[in-house]
Amino acid sequence: MGNASGSSHRRVFRNYDGTEEVEPLVAYFTPVRGRMMKDPLPGMKLDTSFKNRCKDGLDATWQIASVVHHAGLNNLRVRAVGVGYSWSKMTSTRDILIDMSGLTRVITKQPQKYFEKYYLVEVQAGKVVREFVREIDIKFKLALPGMDSFMGQTVGGAVSTSSHGSGFNLQSISNSIVSLHMIIAGGIQVIIREPTAIETDMPLEHVRALVARAQFGDGPLEIISKQAFRAAQVGLGCLGIIYSVTFKCVPLFEIMEERRLTTFTWPASGDSLDFRIPRNFDSNYIGSNEFFSFFVNPFPKKCCSREGVEHVRVVYVRGRKATENDYLARPPCRDACACCCCEGCRGCTACEGCKTDCCASCYSSYVMREPSSIPGWIDNCMKMSIHKGHYVNTWYKVLQYNKGTAHVVSSEWSVALEDLEAALGDVIEMAVDYGRKHNYFNLMPLVCRLTKSDDAYLSLANKYRPDGSECERYAHIELPYFPGSYGVEEFHRALEDMLYERYQARAHWAKNRWFDARRIHDLYPGLEHWKEVYTVFNSDHTFDNQFTARCGFEDSHEEMARFPERSGHMTWRRKVGGYVIYKTDGSPAITRQPSRSFGRQSSRSSRSSRQGSQRGRPNMKTFQ
Ligand SMILES: Cc1cc2nc3c(=O)[nH]c(=O)nc-3n(C[C@H](O)[C@H](O)[C@H](O)COP(=O)(O)OP(=O)(O)OC[C@H]3O[C@@H](n4cnc5c(N)ncnc54)[C@H](O)[C@@H]3O)c2cc1C
Repeated sequence: MGNASGSSHRRVFRNYDGTEEVEPLVAYFTPVRGRMMKDPLPGMKLDTSFKNRCKDGLDATWQIASVVHHAGLNNLRVRAVGVGYSWSKMTSTRDILIDMSGLTRVITKQPQKYFEKYYLVEVQAGKVVREFVREIDIKFKLALPGMDSFMGQTVGGAVSTSSHGSGFNLQSISNSIVSLHMIIAGGIQVIIREPTAIETDMPLEHVRALVARAQFGDGPLEIISKQAFRAAQVGLGCLGIIYSVTFKCVPLFEIMEERRLTTFTWPASGDSLDFRIPRNFDSNYIGSNEFFSFFVNPFPKKCCSREGVEHVRVVYVRGRKATENDYLARPPCRDACACCCCEGCRGCTACEGCKTDCCASCYSSYVMREPSSIPGWIDNCMKMSIHKGHYVNTWYKVLQYNKGTAHVVSSEWSVALEDLEAALGDVIEMAVDYGRKHNYFNLMPLVCRLTKSDDAYLSLANKYRPDGSECERYAHIELPYFPGSYGVEEFHRALEDMLYERYQARAHWAKNRWFDARRIHDLYPGLEHWKEVYTVFNSDHTFDNQFTARCGFEDSHEEMARFPERSGHMTWRRKVGGYVIYKTDGSPAITRQPSRSFGRQSSRSSRSSRQGSQRGRPNMKTFQ
């Protein structure tokens, strides 16, 4: 999966789980690291003056630039693809697909210091993150500040989609970059970065004029602009082709990981409004535990010691930077031997053999005969995922939970951290409802992560909320499915609709998601700024595709102000527990109590208890 097949000129590219295909009508182009002596595409004629200047052949940047230039002249569409691990048709293209997987060089020979604690490392965008972090460890003893639990994607793909890991003070990978070398419409090369304290920020008009004056064949334009940088930090592949990325790296570190099994009480009423995350739970992620995420089995089970009480099983994974003392106290098993008896090891979860498609289909066919056994089955898997002691290893070996051997399909939604409790309660309630009433179960636990907010316009964790407030921290709730599972699309969609309506949740750009230009417009207050940059860098539509059309980005070419007023019809105001949607004149349009929409009969008494519980729900903001 995530690869190409077919004859040399008619190759088909498939995404991670093979559910999406890209069949470019003109060419599947793979830039090479060395110099290319021939014209990059069949039927393409390079300008003679340009050819004379490049007598030694085209290096990788000029190969890409000439393909993009050719596309502009011939009204062709182009897209870059990394390893194709995203969903939502992001890599689709009508004409030319540029496969970046050949550009894997770490360009920096000797990292320069950047401010007090960082070092700059430039890498070509086709490098797989896992290989990049290993190489900078070996060569420079450096590390990225943090990454997600999967590192099989390319640097360019991860940055374009704002891939993130988990930690109270961690931000997505797009926030670890300081500059991008890109090829934009017309084959113009640009290097984009933010101004330093002593530099002047270029207004967008200045950037527009610079780009308009630039000629194909010129050296890279330096664009020192906050707006352009914040747009390119999460460009979704729509602003151009990223040739290389410069990261700010930190000295290498090791992490001491701890995994613990715990439970959250599921309310006897079955009403998500009564669901509480234990009060001291925040102590897991505030303070020294820089890395924290947790898994939740969304199907409650009866507690064996207390009658009438139900629990949902939770495993939390927390990690902090390891110190010398940690080694002395617990010598780590660096072989990751996957033996659950070995104290310094990670237990059964380290065993990659259990995480393949083959195993996934065996589990599925076994448990699907008796769907009601699924909650117990998930509980057992979660129990197996913990380890007794601490696990200490190099940071990227600890943060990496899977190597992509099982082709799961996943959706993820980001909500303000203060809404985590309410949103998680609603997700569990929905899962319980479908499970108990309709015998529909998913085989995998929910994954919950946290990140600090940021300024990138289209980041999932952009700090500006649709209701005009600012948010410091985000929680990301992910629901993965085994490959080939039943009802994935419908269940993901039902959750997405519910989380959007109640919590203005943002769906992960690169995962299974639905499109609605209106939703995107309402959820990202910085969208207009992003679109301004998009119309400069993608002025001739070269990078447009099915994804840009479905997101409504293409409209901005013709009419920048298609939606003149933000949330022209409605505004939200969040209300912890329930939610109210207000009209623009301030009067409430819709007031909903979350539990009612799942078909429970409401009664006077349940309504009053619901109001009571809303008052009692602790605001997660106070935990921060
Ligand atoms: C098993 C699995 C686990 C995952 N875990 C996480 C996770 O923990 N956290 C998280 O946030 N995400 C996660 N993701 C999502 C993943 O990080 C994104 O899908 C990422 O974009 C994949 O990178 P890629 O190289 O495959 O990009 P592709 O799928 O090839 O491309 C994604 C987008 O980026 C663009 N693009 C790629 N390269 C370039 C380039 N050089 N220049 C310009 N545009 C480019 C493409 O045009 C496309 O629009 C996971 C995905 C999978 C399959």
